[in-house]
Amino acid sequence: MTTCIILTCVALLVILLSYFRNKRAKNKVIHIIADRCTGCRRCVKTCRRKALEPAKDKESLHPVLKYPEKCTACKDCILVCKFHALELVNRNVD
Ligand code: SF4
Ligand code: SF4
Repeated sequence: MTTCIILTCVALLVILLSYFRNKRAKNKVIHIIADRCTGCRRCVKTCRRKALEPAKDKESLHPVLKYPEKCTACKDCILVCKFHALELVNRNVD
């Protein structure tokens, strides 16, 4: 009986976390604060969804969010950026 209650609680927790993760991915997207970025590319290497692309020319150091639809707003890139050059913003709804 106790095991059953614990399993039910764990299942509910997983469902709840998944719900909030999906909701965040739908509403938020990453934004690069260009004047803080040093172009280290740490964020590009970290993104498992391959949503970011490194700068292609010398003038623009910072990476770009090439595939916004792939960004799940997981914050992995924010955690690895030492220069606080990434933030989550609301997705455009138009
Ligand atoms: S980790 Fe930060 S500083 Fe490095 S490229 Fe990404 S946004 Fe720029
Ligand atoms: S928030 Fe996650 S999915 Fe979006 S660009 Fe950063 S690492 Fe990639």
